[in-house]
Amino acid sequence: MIPVRGMDGARVGVLGLGRSGLAAARALAAGGAVPVCWDDTEPARARAEEEGFEIRDLGREDALADIARLVVSPGIPHLYPEPNRVVAAALVAGVPVDNDIGLFFRSFATPSWDEMDTVPRVVAVTGSNGKSTTSALIHHVLTEAGRPAQLGGNIGRGVLDLDPPGDGGVVVLELSSYQTELARALTPDVAVFTNLSPDHLDRHGGMGGYFAAKRRLFAEGGPDRAVIGVDEAEGRFLADQLSEGPEDDRVIRVSVARKLSGPGWQVFARKGFLSEYRKGRQAGSIDLRRIRGLPGAHNHQNACAAYGACRSLGLAPRQIEAGFASFAGLPHRSQVIAEAKGVTFVNDSKATNVDSAAKALMAFDRIRWICGGLQKEGGLAGLTPGLRNVTKAYVIGREAQNFALGLDGVEAEICTTMEVAVARALEEAEAGETVLLAPAAASFDQYDNFEQRGDDFTRQVRARLGG
Ligand code: ADP
Repeated sequence: MIPVRGMDGARVGVLGLGRSGLAAARALAAGGAVPVCWDDTEPARARAEEEGFEIRDLGREDALADIARLVVSPGIPHLYPEPNRVVAAALVAGVPVDNDIGLFFRSFATPSWDEMDTVPRVVAVTGSNGKSTTSALIHHVLTEAGRPAQLGGNIGRGVLDLDPPGDGGVVVLELSSYQTELARALTPDVAVFTNLSPDHLDRHGGMGGYFAAKRRLFAEGGPDRAVIGVDEAEGRFLADQLSEGPEDDRVIRVSVARKLSGPGWQVFARKGFLSEYRKGRQAGSIDLRRIRGLPGAHNHQNACAAYGACRSLGLAPRQIEAGFASFAGLPHRSQVIAEAKGVTFVNDSKATNVDSAAKALMAFDRIRWICGGLQKEGGLAGLTPGLRNVTKAYVIGREAQNFALGLDGVEAEICTTMEVAVARALEEAEAGETVLLAPAAASFDQYDNFEQRGDDFTRQVRARLGG
């Protein structure tokens, strides 16, 4: 645990008592603060009470009078579509609103660092897609290279649950836009921006707000090094804003769309080959095509971003290549779950938006595609580049009919349930084809979360193959 510093004796509101909220309450208490907790759901409150924390409905009149700071969980809206009632009250009362990430950054450095040869460093990863994969990959490569590394934030452990790092330790954090928007301290040493596509726009008041939230990671603390995907206008803008000129190598530009050139520092992948150039010279290259844990151009983008971050931390290209080779990939993200009679089964349940699903479609060919669910804003037009690889779509979800109508020019069968979709896809799949779950939609119409949806797919496939 990382005890929260600088709040000794203060009463701090903790709103939301899930994994990160409870960890925040514990870390606040360990640092001498008094957490005052609230969650709208009774079981969550009961868990906190069991641990001995004070429970108070922070939305009640005057409930914030003695509260020095309000720490809010990422699932709770703090601004759009409208602030949660407790956050709204804090904004009226002028109570500073923060989150566990802000507490982490203000508490991370300690006097014990004076004794260390190499002070600990933080790598923070943000972007619309590929954050988890990129963070996990950086962590894996560092660990394989013998560097003490921990993984936290949106993936792995809550930030305040991490162990205080030792000499030379690295903390890799995956940060969502909700987290970067709210954190009052945000000072990573290396900051990574994978890409930007529309997502969570309701929570950010549109694309501009969404980009602004992610941008804070680069603007607030001024990282020593920024690794930035420049395949969208926003990434190019960010890279331009952070560098003083083309030779400024505090920015590492990443692309999977084109060869990058110039006197600065670049990492790009073309046709499955990663190349690193610095000061106009090639510094490293890796053949990514045979790395099973990183299929498709989208994963090559993640590989380039992870490569840039690991190079920033002083790893050699060969060490990074060795780490890539043993990376197994993450569950529910282009994960090969079975192979039978020449048919490959891939679980990409995490493709909850159109952009990530399109990327998954482009990573394979001759696809029997299981898709559908709760549609997000923006329609399905973004899928078009991937649709040419689809042999047939098997549509699930309560609004399967409506979803199928949005799939222009693709043969689509309304299956509604995963069971029917898997059965039909298996019946029709031929050797050389891929059965791919990449829904391009959220799961909440039929499942609690995308993990449950991916597990259901995996179970159904294995049951049918086994039978
Ligand atoms: P995040 O943590 O940002 O949600 P993940 O690594 O969990 O990212 O991947 C989320 C989804 O996006 C998965 O469906 C995955 O296959 C897809 N994906 C992964 N990397 C990228 C990328 N660089 N660009 C687009 N889609 C990606």
